[in-house]
Amino acid sequence: MSKTRMLAVAAASAIAIGLPSLAAAQGEVNVYTYREQKLIQPLFDAFTKDTGIKVNAISASSGLDQRIKTEGANSPADVLLTVDIGRLEDAVQAGITQPIKSDVIDKAVPPQYRDPEGHWAGISMRARVIYASKDRVKQDAITYEELADPKWKGKICIRPGKHIYNNALIAAVIAKHGEAKAEEWLKGLKANLAQKPSGGDRDQARDVAAGKCDLGIGNTYYWALMTKDPKQKGWTEATKVILPTFAGGGTHVNLSGVVLAKHAPNKANAMKLIEWLAGDKAQHMYADSVYEYPVKAGIEINPIIAGYGKLNADPMPISKIAEFKKAAANLVDKVGFDN
Ligand code: FE
Repeated sequence: MSKTRMLAVAAASAIAIGLPSLAAAQGEVNVYTYREQKLIQPLFDAFTKDTGIKVNAISASSGLDQRIKTEGANSPADVLLTVDIGRLEDAVQAGITQPIKSDVIDKAVPPQYRDPEGHWAGISMRARVIYASKDRVKQDAITYEELADPKWKGKICIRPGKHIYNNALIAAVIAKHGEAKAEEWLKGLKANLAQKPSGGDRDQARDVAAGKCDLGIGNTYYWALMTKDPKQKGWTEATKVILPTFAGGGTHVNLSGVVLAKHAPNKANAMKLIEWLAGDKAQHMYADSVYEYPVKAGIEINPIIAGYGKLNADPMPISKIAEFKKAAANLVDKVGFDN
């Protein structure tokens, strides 16, 4: 082989070998996240390790939808990670999403946990549950309907009904029982409150621990997080988590989920990330790091969360609950729940 020919072969193979790694090095995906980046960075690192795709994350506690909307067709956002059907729906309403079309997602994420049109998909679940006083509450099972029973008069603490977490719970009651019965229920619940709705979910555990009420309403992950906080640990020691169910149904759950940005510049990589998030490893890692339930069946749950007992999630599609969000907000006004 002549020297020139040898160089040509070497150059050709360098291109052949070099191109894929160059492509991998250039591969990236831009994630806008409402989830704390500190919590999910290990997940992004694992994704990069598995795929060679670099994750650029922008994290904020609000305003990301608006930012993507303002950026318009030039938005670098590929994927938005957010929590609660309220915020997932807000993203859809803002017009910043496009359908996720994926057999992998359709297989991994049960249909009740994704938008029928594909505009959002759940990655993990949280349940809206009871933090009950260990000393004063003997029962270990309760229904949501029972929260309106006068036997709990003056014994329940809850954050405002206008908050998205309660909005979805009230919407689920409407979806189950219709608006008239839901109104009776909400009036009954209001009549049982120990105080005006205020604070966040953790504050309800605090108030149960302080003896102001016997039942506090809150999400599953807060109780787990409080066990890790020296100041709040005592609130968990004074309470037990009861997973309530609807009469004849399951426990109300909500989602942490993902949307594909309408103008995603790295759409193929965005789809890889979204599909990766629904895989076994990511499902465990993600749910474990944020103290939630994996959406995919058969994935190991964080031990603190597993300690609440077996979750029998309400089978009602989350998109069905979303249909009653407005009606739920109106009901809160109508019964003066937050007054
Ligand atoms: Fe929260």
